[in-house]
Amino acid sequence: MSTAVYQKEWYWRNRERVLAANRERYHTEPEYRLLKLQQKATYKKEHKGEVDLRDALYRRTHKDEIKVRNAVSYKKRDSEKEATRRAVYYQQHRDVIRQRVKQWAKAHPEKVRQYATVKNPLRRAYRLGLPGHLTLEQWRAIKVAYKGKCAYCGKRTKRLTIEHVIPISKGGGTLPDNIVPACYSCNSSKGNREPILMPAIRLLV
Ligand SMILES: [Zn+2]
Repeated sequence: MSTAVYQKEWYWRNRERVLAANRERYHTEPEYRLLKLQQKATYKKEHKGEVDLRDALYRRTHKDEIKVRNAVSYKKRDSEKEATRRAVYYQQHRDVIRQRVKQWAKAHPEKVRQYATVKNPLRRAYRLGLPGHLTLEQWRAIKVAYKGKCAYCGKRTKRLTIEHVIPISKGGGTLPDNIVPACYSCNSSKGNREPILMPAIRLLV
């Protein structure tokens, strides 16, 4: 029996064991995980159309499963225990995680630039222990709801800033309900004043 054939046979006889060992490595060795993720990304790049098609088909045929899985993982993410576990994991794998984030950021400069808009206010809220939840999509929807205009002076501008109706310094969180678009000059003139001292927020029509 040739070596290649023997190796193939060995693999199929021990497949479950090999896969389990690889899975174990994936979850315990950050370097191995990084390597696998890179391999996956390379494969995806080289077989782009094929992978997209397969993913789309999978999403269409497994809708309910995906929904359940997302709900479960959301619940898991939400729990305090999970938060602690993630913090510990981050401390232990900080360098690898940072490297991975850096690589991703380098490959997606446009996404990074767009995300910075919501990331900064979210971070400010988070630092003060205030609720923070605002996706880029929600911020876009808020701007559309205000027809791309400043909520205070009504000026139409492409450079709308995220404005907290109740300022972060007064305990207002970075939440869709507490956010309006404001032009740069209205946002900076409002500062920490309560909305009641500001020109009325224009009603949505
Ligand atoms: Zn304005």
